[in-house]
Amino acid sequence: MSSVFDVLEEQAMRRRIEERRYAIGVDLGATNIRVAIGDEEGRLLRKKEERTEVHLGQDALSQQISRMIEDVVGKEYAIEDLRGIGIGSIGPLDPKRGAILKAANIPFDFVPLVQPLMRRFDLPVYLINDCTTAVIGEKTFGAGRHLDNLVYITISTGIGGGAYVDNHALMGKDNNAAEIGHFMVDMEQRMECGCGRRGHWEAYCSGRNIPRYVRMLLDETPVSEKKGSELVEGVNPKDLTSKMIFDAGKKKDPLALKFLNRIGELNAIGFSDVTTAYDPSLITVGGTVALINDDLVLQPIRKNMERFSINRVPDIMITPLGEDIVLYGAVAMVFNPPV
Ligand SMILES: [Zn+2]
Repeated sequence: MSSVFDVLEEQAMRRRIEERRYAIGVDLGATNIRVAIGDEEGRLLRKKEERTEVHLGQDALSQQISRMIEDVVGKEYAIEDLRGIGIGSIGPLDPKRGAILKAANIPFDFVPLVQPLMRRFDLPVYLINDCTTAVIGEKTFGAGRHLDNLVYITISTGIGGGAYVDNHALMGKDNNAAEIGHFMVDMEQRMECGCGRRGHWEAYCSGRNIPRYVRMLLDETPVSEKKGSELVEGVNPKDLTSKMIFDAGKKKDPLALKFLNRIGELNAIGFSDVTTAYDPSLITVGGTVALINDDLVLQPIRKNMERFSINRVPDIMITPLGEDIVLYGAVAMVFNPPV
């Protein structure tokens, strides 16, 4: 039984934690880890980025994150000033055990994160998937601050999303409430997705898959139409990259624009399915493909939304938080844990 002194001690401890001004945010991707120290006003005070060490053992990731946290805290700040650690991570996650499970690109079935970091720093640690973390960042510090219904969509190596509905971040039974990259957009199911199913949005429109989809479209295009296009002249189709396709589009290459419009139509199907499912007032968009090619990505979506969407079409914009959006969300979840 706890004595009155224990209770007082615990209250004092809680008060001390609540008075702490800083939080650690972690953006854990398959390629890079980014760590920042931030405050409750949404200032990221110091950041650090490293390649993700995925091959050195299942404990290597938590050790790498611990070291990066010590680096951003440095001499200027102190662990005693930290309220907690928020992690926005690639999945799939095991939220109960605080770990990553069998993620693509990580050669281990179980990578513990929450327990090792809690033990190392004696702080609360929160772990949520990266896109839900991003929408928490948008809601707390970005364009969604005054909105109850908001979706964030990333178009990057893959496609993912996070949703706020009626002022709640949607989680789902396995934290997968907005796995929108695997929405079906092609009933003919021509392209295979990284998840092994066919016809999923990400299989056509993500940075990794755009070149594969464009190669298929090129195979269906008559030679006369291909003549003179930057996508064909002097290019081995195997070497096509998303960047080459968007760059050709920026130079008004007609074939590139035609294909980007096809990709845009599929994006519009995905965005209108999102609108039908979550009924947001605003969709913000991030991820490298969208951040670098904003107009070429967003224009065909805006143009086609009315055709596909039954719900009132939301505003669609590039996120003002840019590539830091997951870090913002990871810091925000420490000050205001969503669950
Ligand atoms: Zn899929």
